[in-house]
Amino acid sequence: MKFRNSEKLYKKGLKHLVGAVNSPVRAFTSVGGNPLFIKKAKGSKITDVDGNTYVDFVLSYGPMILGHRHKKVQKAIKKALKKGYTFGASTKNEIKLAKIVCDAFPGMDKVRFVSSGTEAVLSAIRLARAFTGKDKIVKFSGCYHGHSDALLVAAGSGLATLSLPGSKGVPEGAVKNTLIANYNDLESVKAHFEKHDDIAGVIIEPIAGNMGVVLPHDNFLKELKEYLVSKGALLIADEVMTGFRSKFGGAQELLDIEADITCLGKVIGGGFPVGAYGARNEIMEMVSPLGGMYQAGTLSGNPIAMASGIATLTELRKQNPYEQFNETASILEVLLLEAAKKHNVDLVVNRFGSMINPFFTDSEVTNFEEAQKSDTKKFAVFFWEMIRNGIFLPPSQFEAWFLSSALSEKDIAKTANAIDKAMEAVSKM
Ligand SMILES: *Cc1c(COP(=O)(O)O)cnc(C)c1O
Repeated sequence: MKFRNSEKLYKKGLKHLVGAVNSPVRAFTSVGGNPLFIKKAKGSKITDVDGNTYVDFVLSYGPMILGHRHKKVQKAIKKALKKGYTFGASTKNEIKLAKIVCDAFPGMDKVRFVSSGTEAVLSAIRLARAFTGKDKIVKFSGCYHGHSDALLVAAGSGLATLSLPGSKGVPEGAVKNTLIANYNDLESVKAHFEKHDDIAGVIIEPIAGNMGVVLPHDNFLKELKEYLVSKGALLIADEVMTGFRSKFGGAQELLDIEADITCLGKVIGGGFPVGAYGARNEIMEMVSPLGGMYQAGTLSGNPIAMASGIATLTELRKQNPYEQFNETASILEVLLLEAAKKHNVDLVVNRFGSMINPFFTDSEVTNFEEAQKSDTKKFAVFFWEMIRNGIFLPPSQFEAWFLSSALSEKDIAKTANAIDKAMEAVSKM
């Protein structure tokens, strides 16, 4: 397998792009080598500029849940393109997507569309503060909520991959109202409430995906919600990754919990920049123009993105691939564990729905600290051997692999073969 064209573009890209990438997770910092440049993708597969085709488990970090260029989505986008790209005024499709989204999440009467997950979350935090009149926010170590100042502490994969504790350029004042708790540890949340009486809410990835896949313990979220109700604080579910992915109604539907504010992104735009935050009327009525919390966006509710989102979610609801995702993920889990056993490699696999993560470690992973015990050097060897065998994975131990409904049995067979070879390569390190 040759990567000559990717190498050339990488070197060229370094001149005017930072590290030749527009998001640091795309750099191959922790796995070594140069990032691949992509030419095109279709269905379950992605092709680089050297003509190598891979089964795609990155799926643009989640959005492409139907696979790339699904016919119905492409048709909807083409139709929208003919009418104009952006108007700075409302369109019918915004109402249509809003209804699909609000119907999917029981705690959501109204939604506001934005252009990224980062924007959705930072707006949700502002909203929680506006509604409660309190300033402090609790977040969990290892959860990522976008790159807004207040949330760039203990923020999981991107930073963990680069071994950064937080980000430079974030003023102390911006994080002084951010309190850190441990995932799956309600006592660590309670400790903050015992010390502070000005906590607006707790933000969480209900199924964590940004420290690798980490599952909430049974009842952790239910108990957290109950506790927050007793304290008059809000539960903010960051479902940017899990929304429409764990289940149509996200982790909340799957785990039967109801957040006060929900953040969405990724799948909701079907590959176009869409984020959203929503809540019950009482909370959303704080948002301008109905209320005094300001939040705006020139391209928010963009017509092309709305068309893509509507087509993606409509097709997704019709396909209802969640059972199939579970089965595929369980097959992958068995393949990974059996290959690890065969080649004497320590491995733990966490999975939930269409998100799965092998950790190169010998002990269970239930929080960020445990995830960080993984052997990233082993992952790097595994990663490159998977690439050489035609499997495209996120270039980090701490990123989830995503499944699309376009995956075929042939793709899984190819993946099985690659896993065996990659595990063998790890055993020979
Ligand atoms: C990806 C992600 C974000 C940030 O979304 P962007 O669109 O990259 O800004 C926020 N929260 C979670 C849980 C995510 O997975």
